[in-house]
Amino acid sequence: MTDLCTCAKCGRITDIDKLDAKPSPTRLLRLVRLLRGQLFMLRYAADRGYDFDRLECRDCYGPGYVEF
Ligand SMILES: [Zn+2]
Repeated sequence: MTDLCTCAKCGRITDIDKLDAKPSPTRLLRLVRLLRGQLFMLRYAADRGYDFDRLECRDCYGPGYVEF
């Protein structure tokens, strides 16, 4: 039994195990990503307790994608 979910970026219906979560982009997180890169931004958001509630597929996710 697999759960299907929609990629928040491209809208493709994907097995939820193939999606990885990101924090919803705020202005601050966009700025951090722009200045320091996505990996830094993900760590920054995790350290500050942002909700990782945006699911993206491997193609959309970019650096830091983790498959469960
Ligand atoms: Zn996608």
